[in-house]
Amino acid sequence: TFKAWVVEKGEGGQSLALEDFDEAGLMDGDVTVRVTHSGLNYKDGLAMTGRMPVVRRFPMIPGIDFCGVVEASDHAAWKPGDTVVLTGWGVGETHLGGFAERARVKGDWLVPLPEGLSPAQAMAIGTAGYTAMLSVIALEKHGLTPDAGPVVVTGASGGVGSVAVSLLKRAGWHVIASTGREGEADYLKALGAAEIVDRADLAGDPKPLAKERWAAGIDAVGSKTLANLLAMTKGGGAIAACGNAGGMDLPTSVAPFILRGVSLLGINSVTTPQTPRREAWARLAQELDLDALSSMTTTVGMKDVGGLAETILAGQTRGRTVVEIG
Ligand code: NAP
Repeated sequence: TFKAWVVEKGEGGQSLALEDFDEAGLMDGDVTVRVTHSGLNYKDGLAMTGRMPVVRRFPMIPGIDFCGVVEASDHAAWKPGDTVVLTGWGVGETHLGGFAERARVKGDWLVPLPEGLSPAQAMAIGTAGYTAMLSVIALEKHGLTPDAGPVVVTGASGGVGSVAVSLLKRAGWHVIASTGREGEADYLKALGAAEIVDRADLAGDPKPLAKERWAAGIDAVGSKTLANLLAMTKGGGAIAACGNAGGMDLPTSVAPFILRGVSLLGINSVTTPQTPRREAWARLAQELDLDALSSMTTTVGMKDVGGLAETILAGQTRGRTVVEIG
């Protein structure tokens, strides 16, 4: 057996406990990994509480990302001793996940630990940071550069937001950070935010078009916030939509698209193919300021992660949380 957080479904609903899990209960896969680190992501909060039905199989071990050392492999790309990183692919949702001392997954889902990062740093980045990088790449592919105007980041004190602010600052952007936490203004300025906007200013009923305030954006919030972002984007600009911390809906109109040529870029980190996945990790290893990463990271033990499920859903974790396993 090995230690794992386990979500079960019973008559009274969903339960969560740290248990001894039988190795025979691991699901099919060609690589078995001794997990050393995982990360806490918003989706893990949803999985552990059952707030949204992200868990599709019971029992489930939550944890949508992990880093660890290969113990056994029938996959040509991996051998025992390799250090590997996993994000996405339904791990922690449909396939047993990373809040556990062992994981068995498809070798095709893994990437090598990027050169220059430790396992703890890779999970300090985790799914959230990797998604921030995919969002930055999407804005670049759209042809947007810092000359076009400012960039806005919503949910800025969270995991995606903190990494996005840091990466964009490094790339030369004038970063406008939106947060609901007044007390995090200094934290965000230290990461590179030039201006702070109160979350409430972007959460009102959106107009079809409003005064143009930025050329680009990375949105972790969705709902009215994303609609307001679109209405305030300069002609030819784009918003990368990667989150739903404020809701799944999008009460917008076609006005920003047809009158200003604004684009909405969708970001899905879960099933990104190997080539762009490795490119994003390589860029994170090269471009993310590791001191900034350390300043946005809190490290917790395996036993603590269950208690943080409600905290992350309440928007009260700052930056990223690394889970030391074992
Ligand atoms: P997180 O650390 O909890 O960050 C979310 C941030 O959003 C919070 O820190 C808070 O920032 C803000 N927020 C929270 N509740 C809010 C509300 N009700 N209204 C407005 N703002 C709110 O979570 P994360 O792991 O970075 O993930 C952020 C979002 O991206 C989640 O929705 C997650 O599911 C999504 N995501 C998507 C992908 C993908 O593949 N598309 C990958 C990773 C994450 P402030 O206090 O600073 O306002």
